[in-house]
Amino acid sequence: MSSSPMPHVLLVSAPLQGHVNPLLVLGRHLASRGLLVTFTTAPHAGLKFGHGDGATIDVGRGTIRFEHLKGGDLWAPDDPRYHDPTGVMRRIEEAAPPVLAELIRRQSEAGRPVSCVVANAFAPWATRVARGMAVPHAMLWTESCAVLSLFYHYFHSLADFPSREAGPGATVAVPGLPPLAAGDLPALIHAPEEFLWRQVLIADIRSLRETVTWVLVNTFDELERPTIEALRPHLPVIPVGPLCRGTENHGSGQDDDDDDCVAWLDAQPPRSVVFVAFGSLLQISRDEMSELAEGLAATGRPFLLVVRDDNRELLPDGDHCLAAATGSDSRGKVVAWCDQARVLSHGAVGCFVTHCGWNSTVEALASGVPVVTYPAWADQPTNAKFLADVYGVGVRLPKPMTRDALRRCIEKVMGGPEAVAVRARSAKWKAEATAALSTGGSLEKGIQDFVAAILSICA
Ligand code: UDP
Repeated sequence: MSSSPMPHVLLVSAPLQGHVNPLLVLGRHLASRGLLVTFTTAPHAGLKFGHGDGATIDVGRGTIRFEHLKGGDLWAPDDPRYHDPTGVMRRIEEAAPPVLAELIRRQSEAGRPVSCVVANAFAPWATRVARGMAVPHAMLWTESCAVLSLFYHYFHSLADFPSREAGPGATVAVPGLPPLAAGDLPALIHAPEEFLWRQVLIADIRSLRETVTWVLVNTFDELERPTIEALRPHLPVIPVGPLCRGTENHGSGQDDDDDDCVAWLDAQPPRSVVFVAFGSLLQISRDEMSELAEGLAATGRPFLLVVRDDNRELLPDGDHCLAAATGSDSRGKVVAWCDQARVLSHGAVGCFVTHCGWNSTVEALASGVPVVTYPAWADQPTNAKFLADVYGVGVRLPKPMTRDALRRCIEKVMGGPEAVAVRARSAKWKAEATAALSTGGSLEKGIQDFVAAILSICA
């Protein structure tokens, strides 16, 4: 392959919001250092990233291009498998490899050969394609280094993990991590063998050591230093986080709604608002939704609640339940989506009730907002454990949610005697994240190391 005048990094994302967001931020950092970046994914309805196929944006000294994976057998919008994440994943596993290979060939024909592919986890097909075409490749791990280390140790049988049935007394000891009970582990560890996401993950993890040149992780030294150091002898880990979106909007895609949210927050007193969002995928039950609405109403505090369109039908009696919670005094605001990073960085937000996706976790820490954790699956239980017991920035809301428990948890982190200490620890993590994002910080160092590695392979 001939060398391009400017190194060209191809970012390939699994079509999931929690994967697209950090990969796009990584793209901005690489472009701002003078690299040409092409971002690609197989978009489906509901995936938001603000830039259409063919868009080009200049960032600092570099450029980001958007080129969708399309054509071949990939696009079948009428296919019912497009309507659930597992269906999308299966379809893409089958259909994307030749489409991606063609996209890589097109770059060479256009005089910008791909120097390096960065794919996020859950897209092992992208790694296989890059490898088959002899293009150097890296993985962006979009969860914590702790979760990566747990999967690595589990799928290589390097530690004794408690069974799903084991009580909280039975824990696993993985170097660089606190003892973790079965309930603190990522859900895929104990998922059924045939579950597609587990199979894809195993393919990712088992092949990492042999196939991937670098493992970029959305974390920073101060947050996970012992874990990063303990994993380095096994994997070429480069921390490149926190990959938080800034004030520029390239993840939400709903500018008007976002401005409306900010205007509403502007009118609230400092640290008064309870912000509730459960990410891009999680479905909560009718009962949970009802308890949530009643519990928020019972706090007497202003709240901003995200109820995605696909969850809205779960509301008992249509929107009646939320209407009761929001009341006639407009104390609450309900939106279908918002720019979460922007909301969390607003001074009016005093607490975040979260499902603990890793992006939400990092965004909460970087904003210094105390949390109430309500994890469901994937890496969320592990993140909840760290938020509450290791980082000390919040409390855990037991499952299933009840209005009284929700109200008590919110009071604990916003008004009760523990709130002062929780706020102080949240402020400490915000300062650490700010330092990691500053000149000479962990993020700059990680990005520089990665850019230097790309330049060396292009030289
Ligand atoms: N998000 C957002 N607005 C919303 C809900 C979520 O911008 O109303 C963003 C959030 O900031 C995060 C991503 O969507 O960057 C969700 O990723 P996370 O890892 O937290 O959870 P997942 O969706 O993967 O479960």
